[in-house]
Amino acid sequence: MNKDTGNINSDTRRRELILIADDELISRELLGNMLGDEYNVVFASNGSEALEKMEQYKDELSLVLLDLVMPNLSGTEVLKIKSENPEIQHIPVIVMTSDEMAEVECLNLGASDFITKPYPRLEVMLARIRRTIELYEDTLTIKSTERDKFTELYNRSYFNRYIGEMDRFNPDTRMDAVVISFYKFHILSERFGQELADKVLKSMSSHLRDEVHAMGGIICRKDLDGFLIYMPHGNDYERLLKTAGDAIDGIPEVADGHIRLRLGVYACVDKSLAIDRRFERARLALDWNPNNMTGSIEVYDASIHEKELFNEQLIDDFDAAIKEKQFIVYYQPKYNIKGEKDFLASAEALVRWIHPKYGMVSPGAFIPVFESNGLIHRLDIYVWTETARQIKEWKEKLGFTVPVSVNVSRVDMYDPNLISMFREILKENGLTTEELILEITESSYTKDSNQIIETVTDLRSLGFKVEMDDFGTGYSSLSMLSAMPIDALKLDMQFVRSAFGEKRDTRMIEIIIDIAAYLSVPVIAEGVETKEQLEALREIGCDVVQGYYFSKPIPAKDFEQFLKERKA
Ligand code: C2E
Ligand code: MG
Ligand code: MG
Repeated sequence: MNKDTGNINSDTRRRELILIADDELISRELLGNMLGDEYNVVFASNGSEALEKMEQYKDELSLVLLDLVMPNLSGTEVLKIKSENPEIQHIPVIVMTSDEMAEVECLNLGASDFITKPYPRLEVMLARIRRTIELYEDTLTIKSTERDKFTELYNRSYFNRYIGEMDRFNPDTRMDAVVISFYKFHILSERFGQELADKVLKSMSSHLRDEVHAMGGIICRKDLDGFLIYMPHGNDYERLLKTAGDAIDGIPEVADGHIRLRLGVYACVDKSLAIDRRFERARLALDWNPNNMTGSIEVYDASIHEKELFNEQLIDDFDAAIKEKQFIVYYQPKYNIKGEKDFLASAEALVRWIHPKYGMVSPGAFIPVFESNGLIHRLDIYVWTETARQIKEWKEKLGFTVPVSVNVSRVDMYDPNLISMFREILKENGLTTEELILEITESSYTKDSNQIIETVTDLRSLGFKVEMDDFGTGYSSLSMLSAMPIDALKLDMQFVRSAFGEKRDTRMIEIIIDIAAYLSVPVIAEGVETKEQLEALREIGCDVVQGYYFSKPIPAKDFEQFLKERKA
């Protein structure tokens, strides 16, 4: 946790700010005295004042202690209004009341914890308050890694929001979407060390930021090895490259062409296209000419448009592919690593397309395409049905099986027949909800949480287990997380990647394991490729592991071998 591993030492640490909302003066004084030594405190004496203070201190508040019974607005009403206000919904709340019956309602409204009056011992109160604040700060830490800590450039979501604003205020200005990629940047840190790589990155960021601002544009970092720029058309692309090049030349060790700088441009963007699509076109321009020299500028044009046509082709071929069963389900084992001996706990169903013209197409190529137009729903139903049939076959043939998880896309959650369909699929194959697990990505949850939470709650009341996939890539706040109905967290592969990169640093994973413990759910790590990763994850308390170390996704026939071993 922060206080143990971070550089915040308990003597010099920032004093967190707590809002105490209680209508009784005695209570306010009592709590104020209890907390005053350790925290800064502000007060509110009724519900609407509490909301006002939350807005006023929205960026500083670490916690609200909220009395339930107050004049003008009750604590539950405050919680409800707060949960609908994106500005303040992230602030954690501990509810204080003598009415124990209110607990469930408050937790449902997003409260993080519950303290019953009369107040418990001071140490107990302080411990619960500290715990809630720590968990809250940890989720902030996770989010702040989405922000670029070296370069201080906008993160992607801010960047996109700014673009929306620019377009709204200047609808007629012609704009370019530009991608700068510095190819093989990771090699730089391997050859010259992380410190130098950071220096290069910082230097490029600050030079480019100034230049782009002067051009009237904005910039953000893209993944490990690139920048995105949105700027008025007519600016000089060469100058951008030169600016980035100069920034590198200022650092003698790498000045010698170690970094291959390239620029992809989608000029005069079609503003009816989604923002991500515009940069995708700039990126496509680069991908189209992968072997080009440093300093090259690639512009999105007709030939690249053809690649987009390929995607269209995939869409056209979809119906036939379903009908002719060109989609094949592969299975990847998940191992429980908690016990003395690792054992096969379950599997994940992952689809592949054996295309008559293109051969094996990976889901990375077609899932995003089908997600963008809703076809994914039909594909998912196909995969669920096929998976259930396969489980049934294994049961009959081997007298044994393990649960298999299937991926559920966001659009699936909007189908009013979803639940009856799952029921039907199970019934047809004589399966129970124990045997088919559902994986839903964190980003699905955060995009439309109310609708998703409702559906997931219904599914879980039928007995389905729901795993939150790609956890850590969304923007869940702690109070959202505690309101989310889930049975396991699947750590996004990226966390394993970065924890075992250049330097070994598993702190982020530890934080997530801590959050999972708070939610009382197990953690599944994806993308585990080496023995070293496995042992480290075991050490820090990860429960289940999936990855090439145990096996790649394999055809049903091959997976049988894993089942037989498990049975033996
Ligand atoms: P996911 O659900 O997060 O699945 C895990 C992905 O990680 C799979 O990629 C798997 O092959 C890959 N993987 C597993 N272990 C390792 C490892 O050790 N190293 C590396 N580098 N990769 C590993 P895959 O099969 O290409 O699928 C990609 C994504 O496509 C999946 O991510 C999932 O979001 C989506 N997908 C696959 N099948 C379906 C499906 O039937 N329906 C839906 N909606 N999405 C699917
Ligand atoms: Mg998955
Ligand atoms: Mg995943």
